Amino acid sequence: MTDSRPTLVLLHQRAGLPWVFEAAERAGIDLVLVPRPDERVDPDRLPPAVVELLPLDLPADPAGALEVLRKRHADAPFDGVVTLYDPLVPFAAEAAELLGLPGIGVEVARSAQDKRVMRERLAAAGLNVPRFVRLDPADDPAATVESAGLTFPVVVKPALGMSSLGVTRADSSAALGAVVAEVRRVSAGTADGGAGLIVEEYLDGPEYAVESLVHEGRVQVLSIGYKGDPKGPYFEESVYRAPAPLPEAVRADVVREVIAAHAALGVSYGPTHTELRLRGGSTPYLLEMGARIGGSGVSHYIAGHVTGIDFAAQALRLAAGLPPTVTLREGLAEAVAAAANYIVPCGGHGTITAVHGLDGVRADRRVDHVVQMLAPGDVVRPYPDFTGYPAFVLSRHEDTAEAEEFHAHLERAVRIDYAPATTEGAAS
Ligand code: ADP
Repeated sequence: MTDSRPTLVLLHQRAGLPWVFEAAERAGIDLVLVPRPDERVDPDRLPPAVVELLPLDLPADPAGALEVLRKRHADAPFDGVVTLYDPLVPFAAEAAELLGLPGIGVEVARSAQDKRVMRERLAAAGLNVPRFVRLDPADDPAATVESAGLTFPVVVKPALGMSSLGVTRADSSAALGAVVAEVRRVSAGTADGGAGLIVEEYLDGPEYAVESLVHEGRVQVLSIGYKGDPKGPYFEESVYRAPAPLPEAVRADVVREVIAAHAALGVSYGPTHTELRLRGGSTPYLLEMGARIGGSGVSHYIAGHVTGIDFAAQALRLAAGLPPTVTLREGLAEAVAAAANYIVPCGGHGTITAVHGLDGVRADRRVDHVVQMLAPGDVVRPYPDFTGYPAFVLSRHEDTAEAEEFHAHLERAVRIDYAPATTEGAAS
């Protein structure tokens, strides 16, 4: 600990997404922001709590970045390194480990990120796992999937992917080769260039996100939220509504599975974001667990409103080596309200000419934030390429049923227009 205010290095957080910055301010923690390479942060208009900008050449030169952090820490010590950006979770863990700061450890961080390792660890711990197989560039897809005894439909995904990029459903052995080639092409930008894939059986059932805060090995599950029921072939995110209405027994199974997954993956500290599907409508199967606050901070908004616990502020305290200011108990926290995120669908591709309906949405008293990421002039590439989501609408509700009604209204009210395709590329 430094003798002045605690300080955290925060990696690649978008300046326009306010939750983590505001949480740091509430927690009395200063931030050294490492900006994203695609974002210019105005030094005269820094986000709340940011006291310094520290550009690092990440992810291109991690060794150089570690050296800069080591020197910065030697000159003026900080108390922790955090990120909400999934690909940098292992780097943050490595930096923390190197500098003797709190963290989950680089080995745990890497294993939570590599879907092959994650599946193996969950299976070894006796948790629910679909049949799966690793697929390397030299492997013949159809023969590999057949010899592993997988039943179609299957889902093909990059082992080191994020944001559903490249995740694609294949319905038959005949379709598999083309799907694999496409997943490799789309995920060429991931850490291993899209070489390592995993193929697993398609889990049929609704999807849920679970936000948790872990301290001294105790997993306080904050919220379980409904994430829609995407059927593929591509898995665009759509809604997030918490708390999810679930039968008591199913809710208990979800909590048990999520707590056991933390133990299986070795995540004993910090915030986590877990995604799962209820196979057959009732049996939880983990899709993945991120050792970070999810959705660039959206998870803070959701879990914070559902529980009344300041999720991000508590997570930042843990990252700085401070104890939480709330009592964290193993198990599910009580829900005191409902919160939701509506992800405006692209609904087409090409050059955006208009985004309709957002002004009316901004004026709705239940809406706290409309985060717009795509605007007229931006070009949306057709799926399976991923351009990004047009906008998030974050809202608060008395209960989840009201959130559902509100989302049905948004489906009608918000629409994106595209210029008619003029080139072959845009029309494809
Ligand atoms: P990423 O880390 O890229 O988000 P995920 O494994 O979380 O990858 O997959 C993204 C989405 O694809 C999931 O949220 C889910 O909707 C869908 N998906 C992934 N694997 C499966 C599966 N085995 N069965 C059904 N849907 C899946």
